[in-house]
Amino acid sequence: RRYAGPFARSKLQLDGVKDVIAVASGKGGVGKSTTAVNLAVALANKCNLKVGLLDADVYGPSVPMMMKIDRKPDITEDKTMIPIENYGVRCMSMGFLVEQDAPIVWRGPMVMSALEKMTRGVSWGKLDILVVDMPPGTGDAQLTITQSLQLSGAVIISTPQDVALLDARRGVKMFSKVEVPILGFIENMSCFKCPHCGEPSYIFGKGGTRKTADSMGHHFIGEIPIEVDIRTCSDNGTPIVISSPDSGVSQAYCEAARSI
Ligand code: ADP
Repeated sequence: RRYAGPFARSKLQLDGVKDVIAVASGKGGVGKSTTAVNLAVALANKCNLKVGLLDADVYGPSVPMMMKIDRKPDITEDKTMIPIENYGVRCMSMGFLVEQDAPIVWRGPMVMSALEKMTRGVSWGKLDILVVDMPPGTGDAQLTITQSLQLSGAVIISTPQDVALLDARRGVKMFSKVEVPILGFIENMSCFKCPHCGEPSYIFGKGGTRKTADSMGHHFIGEIPIEVDIRTCSDNGTPIVISSPDSGVSQAYCEAARSI
């Protein structure tokens, strides 16, 4: 049996949280965090839901930067952490607990206890939906989260590239194993539209994510193009759904959020 962490006893139902949705990818760097952040912001601001965002990407937490949060969470008398709110989303991240440029070179059990702190040890309050930005891959950290948190479903992020899709399939299988329903696939970086002539380029291939979703019998939620603004807005800590709410990309995020 694989080591499943200190809290694999039973799936934790977070008090006051209606639904917990994992945003996952098999491969790193495909835009999982960018998508999780923009979906969370869209759910809060366009769907009027009470939303939390748990950055469980313990090895490379990016929510503090993407959500422009640079302080540490307050701690209550009973030692639970209070999430930090920005853009209407209550956030918790491993990045709040470690120095920004500190390497997170932890061994398995330390990662598990950090994850436990970030789930059990947080006063989320009443939430309609908690979006969990998962660590990439299908290792122990991912397994711990899927086995320990009562997840309502998972959204799989992939680029249309074959190597990313191969890993995405693995991710789907992991969720199936622990009986977490797959809500659907989102294709990120689907197409690059030349800002000068408008010609589309399919840098990572065309339509691969929809094909993969279809072949596995899962829903295809939608696609997000590759755009400079998405990257710059993330880097500036103002997600594009906030900074350019009327742009085509923001609308794509909002449509995806609505269909979750
Ligand atoms: P992951 O969480 O999968 O590791 P990130 O969300 O951190 O990926 O994204 C990796 C990099 O790609 C970041 O620099 C991010 O700003 C950029 N990025 C993600 N999605 C897009 C997109 N659709 N268009 C342009 N840049 C993107």
